[in-house]
Amino acid sequence: METYKVLLETLERAGNLRSLPLIEPYDKWIIRDGRKMLNLSSNDYLGLSRDMQLRKEFLTWAMEEYLPLSSTSSRLLTGNYPVYTELEKALASAYGKESALVFNSGYHANVGILPALADKETLILTDKLVHASLIDGIRLSGATYKRFRHQDYEQAEQILQASVRTYKRIILVTESIFSMDGDIADLHRLVRLKQEYPNVLLYVDEAHAIGVRGKTGLGIAEESGTLPNVDLLVGTFGKALASMGAFVACSRLLHDVLVNRMRPLIFSTALPPLQVAWTSYLFQLLPHMEERRKHLQRLSASVAQALQGKGGEISSSHIIPYIVKDSEDCLRLAEFLQRKGFYCLAIRPPTVPQGTARLRLSITADMDEENIRPLNELLVDK
Ligand SMILES: *Cc1c(COP(=O)(O)O)cnc(C)c1O
Repeated sequence: METYKVLLETLERAGNLRSLPLIEPYDKWIIRDGRKMLNLSSNDYLGLSRDMQLRKEFLTWAMEEYLPLSSTSSRLLTGNYPVYTELEKALASAYGKESALVFNSGYHANVGILPALADKETLILTDKLVHASLIDGIRLSGATYKRFRHQDYEQAEQILQASVRTYKRIILVTESIFSMDGDIADLHRLVRLKQEYPNVLLYVDEAHAIGVRGKTGLGIAEESGTLPNVDLLVGTFGKALASMGAFVACSRLLHDVLVNRMRPLIFSTALPPLQVAWTSYLFQLLPHMEERRKHLQRLSASVAQALQGKGGEISSSHIIPYIVKDSEDCLRLAEFLQRKGFYCLAIRPPTVPQGTARLRLSITADMDEENIRPLNELLVDK
């Protein structure tokens, strides 16, 4: 027990101790200690989770349907309600893939897909900044793992060149919009790499892009025209899609391997059918949300502008870092902004590399110019 205490004290001294915040999210606001602040830490990028009209419409319809609040079992047993297969059909069709497979969360997806597809003769090659869930999937897979410097595709190519004869297959993994920097992978470049070397599968995690980017909201692969060349496209429903769960769009063959080998799919109770129906309901509305997407881009650009020279220029999306470097300075700045009515959080190691503590501002489409202007003024002055 003594060693646990020491562990926590060490974290606290470095300004890296975490705790669960006592907050009350309300609409685009967060209420904490009686103070109302603009929520700049939400993943509800389109503001859909707080759209009462949509929720009302859905629930009115859903009351008449047989949509239980629990599936009571894994999908391989008795949990596979028709809403699952309907959603998967819609996803496969939208993404132009043979198949799609729905999972309980993005974490389940990333922690399960790589171990199901990789073995000792597989090399997993990733961008250095991929999400923790992918790292955990790699650890569980037992495959050899190499990473290239963030977005350094020359280095990725050198590793491919040196490895291609040693491994039976290579899985090249990236996020499209990166969680902590808000910058965007060059999917064209990655597709070229995949095509220049044999037996390479391209795996793209679009958690932060689905809903937000692309003509019909499918993400960066849609926006960049690279969809046909992505072998495994992972998206999540808990962020812009205001629901819960995740999916992969892929070939029939890979789908069948996952159904047979993916442990988080096989050994976990499926999402409640009502939840899956809500996901379907929002997914079919996505193509019609272009106005929200454009508004979000305009607001984000104005914040990025205010943060030039402080991290804003790194971002090309609605996720905008303000790099402070030192963890404690970062905490102080977060507290300052909170006192001014802006709920932003300090992101510290180990979530980000040592010496790059930052505020991560995430803009959502239900904010307006009046919400953002005073923030920009504060940030420019800092
Ligand atoms: C949020 C996130 C996940 C995890 O998705 P959940 O549905 O929240 O478990 C996976 N990958 C990335 C890049 C994410 O940002």
